Amino acid sequence: MSGSIGVVGGGQLALMLAEAAQRLGVELHVQTPLATDPAAALATSVVQAPIDDVAGTRALAALCQAISFENEWLNLDALAALEAEGVVFVPRLQALQPLVSKRSQRELLDRLQLASPRWIPLEAVLTPPAGLAADSLPQQAGGPGGEGWPPATAEGGTAEAPNPPEPSAPRLPQGFSFPLMAKAATGGYDGRGTACIHDDQELALLVERVPPEQWLLEEFVAFEQELALVACRDRGGNVRAFPLVQTHQHNRVCDWVLAPANVSHAVEARARNMAASLLTALDYAGVLSVEFFYGPAGLQVNELAPRTHNSGHYTIEATVTSQFEQQVRIVQGLGLGDTALKLPGALMVNLLGFETAASSYEEQRQALADLPGASVHWYGKRESSPGRKLGHVTLLLTQQQPEPRQQEAMQRLDQVRAIWPLPPEERP
Ligand code: ADP
Repeated sequence: MSGSIGVVGGGQLALMLAEAAQRLGVELHVQTPLATDPAAALATSVVQAPIDDVAGTRALAALCQAISFENEWLNLDALAALEAEGVVFVPRLQALQPLVSKRSQRELLDRLQLASPRWIPLEAVLTPPAGLAADSLPQQAGGPGGEGWPPATAEGGTAEAPNPPEPSAPRLPQGFSFPLMAKAATGGYDGRGTACIHDDQELALLVERVPPEQWLLEEFVAFEQELALVACRDRGGNVRAFPLVQTHQHNRVCDWVLAPANVSHAVEARARNMAASLLTALDYAGVLSVEFFYGPAGLQVNELAPRTHNSGHYTIEATVTSQFEQQVRIVQGLGLGDTALKLPGALMVNLLGFETAASSYEEQRQALADLPGASVHWYGKRESSPGRKLGHVTLLLTQQQPEPRQQEAMQRLDQVRAIWPLPPEERP
């Protein structure tokens, strides 16, 4: 096979894409600021430029047939000029449009009637709702037209916008109660840009500290499990999904992933249907991951990531085609590879930095590599800090049945923990 693709970004996802491209005989060029970034050593060539540098992306486009992204926090308006010049982005920019902000993701999910946690734009807690156009709010409980809107005043009446508005303490619309999750619409990852809000005081601090129009507030979900699905759609419209997995977070960062998740066929089918309707509604080409909460409220979408994802790293060893190979195939215009597991299951554990001093963790990496059925992936980041994703290890599972397999996974996790401890707990 031959061909050449470009990736905007040079971190660990681009590194694993470059590994897959090499196996497929496809050239992969990256745009990344530093020659020492993880993907730079393996890429066919490097356009050394910040990832939001459009001139850099134009230079990248000159080297390849199609471009995809490592990260969704994009300036689509700036990139539109390149698309108009004929640069091929996969996924195309229009499909990415609703996905580049957590607020527009929530609006998309509401529009497609796919369950997600109830939410409000953060400015909806400001009374009077300064600068808030009533029709800019989601049509659901807590929004205009929904139950609990407008927010009740302390006197039990409803808030009317006085003229001029008096600054007053932020107030929750009816139907919402603490604790709540506050999230930045853009730029957040690994729990940065999220905050658990426990009371009025924390809410007041939040609205002082952040631009409310760029944040949202959502109900705190009492989930039993977090699940994730990496799904994919080729440029001809064919859809497939990798197995549904269980994810576990530590300090709101992905800690481990168990594939496949120990859930009923009905839950897996529902997750696949939700992902397929999203991909099709967006006319999306590429790999996309869907993160779910699962509990008494059923399956709810937490977040969408229009790219390869940490919850799919296990596919490198465990499925016929990996998520990275799949993305390379799709960007290159090829048909989809087989997404089935080729063994009973796998446990992926993220190697989160736990030392405060700079460390190359050589001893621990060797000990992990010596575990049976283990593959260590080390991203070669220049700097390590507590909690930072430095690599991951995938352990192959042998048990055929879900319950014994889950027990096997937890035993394997203990083996990893004995070598690689978790970073200290932070207050949520
Ligand atoms: P990021 O984009 O930084 O990964 P997420 O929205 O995925 O942020 O949140 C990170 C983690 O925080 C989730 O995996 C989950 O464990 C927890 N979390 C996020 N939103 C909620 C919520 N509404 N209720 C309960 N926990 C949540």
